[in-house]
Amino acid sequence: MNASRTATADFAQASDGASTTQAAAIPFFRGDASDPALAERMTQACGEILRSGVYVLGSQVKALEESLAALLGGREVVAVNSGSDALVLALAALGVGTLGGGRDDDEVILPSYTFVACAEAVLAVGARPVFVDCTIDNFAPSLQAHRQAVGPRTRAVLAVGLFGDASHIPALAAFCRAHGLLMVEDIAQCLGATATGEDGTTRPAGTWGDACAMSFYPTKTLGAAGDAGALAFADARHARQARRLRNHGHEDGEHHCLGRNSRMDELQAGLLRIALTQFPRALARRRQIAQRYLGAWAGSGIHLPPSDAGHAWNYFVLRFGSSAQRDAVVADLAAQAIATQVYYRQPLHLQRALAATHGGRKLPHSESHARCALAIPMYPALRDDEVERIVEAVGAPRDLG
Ligand SMILES: *Cc1c(COP(=O)(O)O)cnc(C)c1O
Repeated sequence: MNASRTATADFAQASDGASTTQAAAIPFFRGDASDPALAERMTQACGEILRSGVYVLGSQVKALEESLAALLGGREVVAVNSGSDALVLALAALGVGTLGGGRDDDEVILPSYTFVACAEAVLAVGARPVFVDCTIDNFAPSLQAHRQAVGPRTRAVLAVGLFGDASHIPALAAFCRAHGLLMVEDIAQCLGATATGEDGTTRPAGTWGDACAMSFYPTKTLGAAGDAGALAFADARHARQARRLRNHGHEDGEHHCLGRNSRMDELQAGLLRIALTQFPRALARRRQIAQRYLGAWAGSGIHLPPSDAGHAWNYFVLRFGSSAQRDAVVADLAAQAIATQVYYRQPLHLQRALAATHGGRKLPHSESHARCALAIPMYPALRDDEVERIVEAVGAPRDLG
């Protein structure tokens, strides 16, 4: 991810000209600390933690775990050092792959159009990734794609709430139950989203599967000032195993198993607790911006993202008719000092590091999305005047050439 590099480059471009007529740059991301009052609270909290002398897995982490549990229907939460490790420990705690005490031919079904950490986690626990395609009008894979991918060695499904949309997860959870498969939800991008099940109940993303993995990377819906992540489990025994695994298998003076160092820092936990006090407001602001964007391009030739009411809008991703159209919009926006990002330029099954594990099968919709998708700025600190500049700059499809 190079969000900060793009933002910096665009800012440099805007300020180098020293032209007073050029509008200020709109970065791809701006964190909570851009609010001076919040920055003050965060600085104060950091000072207190530094003076406390407790820096890892202390009272801040414990309090954060309790607050996150309240967001996830009371599920037990285990704080770790990143979303990437959260995925590894979720699979291992559930018993998937050799690291989890399972088999080296355990298979995990996951989307190809997602962040690379999803595939890394499957390989890191000593299991095999089986990539599925997304649909042509959605970023999520269909039930049908999962049905075709299930085989005798399938142990688990990794369901990813890409860009903030968890709406497909309940049906996938029912599918997993019907097939006796474990389900890990990757809610790195959709913490705060809700989804509605077949029985009409609406629940938070992260409460549908056996485990969920969260990331607090700065650009996520709940962001730290560095790396941090967490897991939540339906079954307290799995949570206990994850607690051991995050700290070298340690519990009560003994190493019960071999684990790793995936502990969370007190500083990140303290900052996240402050960010949590703003979380409902931040989500509401994301949804407000999304409504403006959706209205601006409704009925235009631009493909809008699926817009379920429970969407957490971590990223707002448009799709254009071709890579040439997409790249023209990127250039147009860059010329107006508006930063954009491409998630994801290459689906996982085509990545050099992963292609060999996939075996060359085409996943055409993932490949098409990778060519045509573009994320525009979407964060609570984005001002209304900036939103309007972005709406104008993307313009109507007739401007796209
Ligand atoms: C960010 C992200 C991760 C990894 O989280 P880190 O905290 O950056 O390690 C995993 N999956 C998805 C879908 C993500 O967006």
